[in-house]
Amino acid sequence: MADEIWHMNRFRVGIGNDIHRLVEGRKLILGGVEISYERGLLGHSDGDSLTHAITDALLGAAALGDIGAHFSDLDPRWAGADSLVFLRHASGLLEERGFEIANVDATILAERPKMAPHLAKMKTKLAEAMGIGQSQINIKAKTNEGLDAIGCGDAIGAQAVALIVADDLTPAKLSVDEELEMIEKMIAEFESKR
Ligand code: MG
Repeated sequence: MADEIWHMNRFRVGIGNDIHRLVEGRKLILGGVEISYERGLLGHSDGDSLTHAITDALLGAAALGDIGAHFSDLDPRWAGADSLVFLRHASGLLEERGFEIANVDATILAERPKMAPHLAKMKTKLAEAMGIGQSQINIKAKTNEGLDAIGCGDAIGAQAVALIVADDLTPAKLSVDEELEMIEKMIAEFESKR
């Protein structure tokens, strides 16, 4: 019985939800992929609602709060930031705490443009940022049938769920200084790969 409970507690699930307004004069970036379109997502960072939803799902699964707690939209360091940096960082935090990502499933909610031609590339970029394989991530896209702000084409939203597995049940805790050091290291690593 004790063994069964231990195994059940190894599995944790998280949910993420995000939406950004579509405006003129911004690049449209979703899932780390730039999509040619007349408008782009407004946000302090690049406004990538899909990547934000997945990041929140991972943080949620590990009980690490949300994306805003780790990357404040008041912090000038994240102005125009590539959101894959956030996802990479969240994945690193999970790894530090002894969690492995089992799988991620996400849905883009967009009336237009068509997402189908871009889904494979998004999967590749997102999987790489999380350090997981292609078979562990699924990205879907659907319209809102002309209803609400998304349906009117004024915003693009995303929903995500993540399942993570704990290696053991005593995950390491990082101090604030250690976490900041880790963020800086990850950004430097990410920049060097561009
Ligand atoms: Mg967001």
